[in-house]
Amino acid sequence: MAIRYYSTNRFVHSRAGIDPFTATVTFREALLAGQAPDEGLFVPDPIPQLSMSDIIGLRDRPYWQAALLVARAFLSGEFSDDVLADIVQDAYNYPVPLEAVYPRAFLLRLDQGPTASFKDFAARMMARLMSHCRPEGERLNILVATSGDTGSAVGEAYKGVCGIDVTILYPADEVSLMQKKQLDTIGGNVRALCVNGKFDDCQNLVKEAFADRELARFNLSSANSINFGRILPQIVYYVYAYAQLAGADEEVLFSVPSGNFGDALGCEYARRMGLPVAKLIMPTNENDEFPLYLETGRYTKVSPSRACISNAMNVGHPSNLARFFELYGGTVDRAGVVHRYPDLAEMRRRIFSVSVTDEQTRRTIKSVYDRYRVILEQHGAVGWAGLEAYQKKTGDMKLAICLETAHPAKFPEEIKSLLGIDPELPESMKDLACRQGGAVNMSRDFPSFKRYLQDTLKIRE
Ligand SMILES: *Cc1c(COP(=O)(O)O)cnc(C)c1O
Repeated sequence: MAIRYYSTNRFVHSRAGIDPFTATVTFREALLAGQAPDEGLFVPDPIPQLSMSDIIGLRDRPYWQAALLVARAFLSGEFSDDVLADIVQDAYNYPVPLEAVYPRAFLLRLDQGPTASFKDFAARMMARLMSHCRPEGERLNILVATSGDTGSAVGEAYKGVCGIDVTILYPADEVSLMQKKQLDTIGGNVRALCVNGKFDDCQNLVKEAFADRELARFNLSSANSINFGRILPQIVYYVYAYAQLAGADEEVLFSVPSGNFGDALGCEYARRMGLPVAKLIMPTNENDEFPLYLETGRYTKVSPSRACISNAMNVGHPSNLARFFELYGGTVDRAGVVHRYPDLAEMRRRIFSVSVTDEQTRRTIKSVYDRYRVILEQHGAVGWAGLEAYQKKTGDMKLAICLETAHPAKFPEEIKSLLGIDPELPESMKDLACRQGGAVNMSRDFPSFKRYLQDTLKIRE
């Protein structure tokens, strides 16, 4: 049966603000549109299945073969095998280490891509899928507002990809020097705009551009985490890690440090495709709206979001919560309004969540280093602290895999002050200091941004 994509808002009663989108679209349409017309998120139906023998067959195979298995399951109706094989081999040309912390607990290090965060995995595959999906002979123009990591992952992922240009907007005073260097020096078909304002100003500029009818001719598209094209590649590493470490049908635990819940959603889909995940552990930082929901059954977003050291997870209302609610029979919209509550008992059976404070995060970085000589950065440390909290509460010592979502060298100050060592830069970032290039300075008013787009964007190849 062909897989179709529908909107998480389709059951919302028509009322001011939301006009439910009740049709379905293809993957290609979902990829290019980003979100549904009613601002809901696209979700696939049916969810394809993987057989245990296919999964276990990935043991000792290169990562791209796991990606091909998952990509085929979702996309074989819309892409040829050859195209998919080219895409995944080109996207995944770096290692994916699994590191034993103690005999039955592993770190899945997703930090060897071009920008040393797990976002490389999704962005690189999505960029290549988009290049194949664009209208014949036309260019796509990606606009992305970033508070740091997403922008560089997206920029690097699209660099040199045929027929697509990328414009990145970032807030002048809210990115670190290393992030600025990463963003400014990508070059080629990727331009960085340094906006005199905050992250919200960047997001508003992008939103206005999408709504502007005169800009529609530029085929504007987004690459943010609500696009299903970013979720699909995040299913792969769960399947890959399982195949390397587990026996057939063995139940495992995954711990996923969570912000917008896109990463953890990949695990939820992997489970629904047939991966035996006994528990999905989703620790958050001090933005505790989700663990509080699991505890109390009432959902209240955290607004404004709390600033924690695991800053890529400072999210007060995770955008992919809409998909989680949907998968458990509920509906929540973009504003955080719950229209229908999901099956809480079922969620509690499958998911464990806990809020980890900055102090606990720092203590975890220190204790994991002291006990095991393993270096975690603050996002992975939230994941590890969540795993320990789960084990302590339940005594469940199944094979456990915790995701390390960024490289410690991206946070040298924190690591240095806690452990007294300077983590070595990963291969992909060693040349950062000598990269050339600069950003265009941009004010935060829409007319000047629009004029800039009209002067620089191209329509045809
Ligand atoms: C984005 C990010 C996260 C959070 O992932 P979500 O998919 O938003 O939950 C965690 N760690 C790092 C390093 C990130 O960049």
